Amino acid sequence: SLSIGIVGLPNVGKSTLFNALTNNKALAANYPFATIEPNVGIVPIPDARLHTLAAIDNAQRTIPATVEFVDIAGLVAGASQGEGLGNQFLANIRETDAICEVVRYFSDPDVVHVAGKVNPSSDVDTIHTELQLADLATVEKALPRLEKEAKREKAKAETLATAKLVYKALSDGISARDANLTLEQQAHIADLHLLTMKPILYVANVDEDQLTSTLAPIHGSQPVLVSAKIEQDLAGLDASEAQLFLEELGLQESGLARLARSAYALLGLQSYFTSGEKETRAWTIPIGAKAPQAAGVIHSDFERGFIKAETASYDDYVAYQGEAGCRAAGRLRQEGKDYVVCDGDVMHFKFNV
Ligand code: GDP
Repeated sequence: SLSIGIVGLPNVGKSTLFNALTNNKALAANYPFATIEPNVGIVPIPDARLHTLAAIDNAQRTIPATVEFVDIAGLVAGASQGEGLGNQFLANIRETDAICEVVRYFSDPDVVHVAGKVNPSSDVDTIHTELQLADLATVEKALPRLEKEAKREKAKAETLATAKLVYKALSDGISARDANLTLEQQAHIADLHLLTMKPILYVANVDEDQLTSTLAPIHGSQPVLVSAKIEQDLAGLDASEAQLFLEELGLQESGLARLARSAYALLGLQSYFTSGEKETRAWTIPIGAKAPQAAGVIHSDFERGFIKAETASYDDYVAYQGEAGCRAAGRLRQEGKDYVVCDGDVMHFKFNV
């Protein structure tokens, strides 16, 4: 499933935030997720449509789409040279789909800042430099092999050229994702699993009174505002208490929910639904996915044996009160293997076993 690595300098609030994810009373009560590993937390993506569908079908339970957060231990300046937990850190982060960088904005003088003072943009630069250095080392190591392959195979010449281009960008302090690579070039070097190629989401860990303010963008993207301290308090409350507490603070939903939602958007993901008496469930697919790929998220057999998908839009499913109603009204479409799934589609797959 979709996984996001949490990174940041020491003492910025990563563990506090992560613990709020994994020891969350309201979440634990509502969602039957198994805890997997101690450094992995699963966050449901709140979606009111799930509950509307479940009510129509009298479903016994609802299962939301989720994002998996992985706590990646301590990055310090010098990590790429093997300082601190450097190398383990880099191995963990390589396996995630995206990076979520926690940046300290809260001022609490009792919490020591590793660089001596609270300075978000300098902290972000420190992390960027480390990630870029790690990628430089990766490309440097791959270049001799790519040179050899390019001599043998014409098709590999492009890969080599792209690797050299990225090497130049990284040497100039430019992250791979900002090196203006075409999709084709990105595909050529996908095997290198470059860290600075991964999409990045900034989380500003702010003081309580900054929560409803607007921060300057970080490298062109708007940070998600969170107070790790408040998330910690929220984690100990049940759902109704948490709702009251959020209202008192003038907030619609928890920082963790905002974070999960932003991650979903950052990665170009959307949901479709399956719904019946047993359960109503949201499934995660990339925007642009076709029906068989969507089926494959449920089970690879569904993709292999795909015949068709009986599909209703979310709005129709609600307007005609379910699949039977949609069918009677002629709003249940028979979609084939080239159908591009829309956000909110309610789907029922037919497949060969
Ligand atoms: P990590 O090293 O990034 O994992 O940071 P921790 O989560 O361990 O937090 C470091 C210290 O900062 C702890 O004493 C936390 O209680 C404190 N802390 C974390 N988040 C906040 C916050 O939002 N506000 C305040 N005032 N303190 C925080």
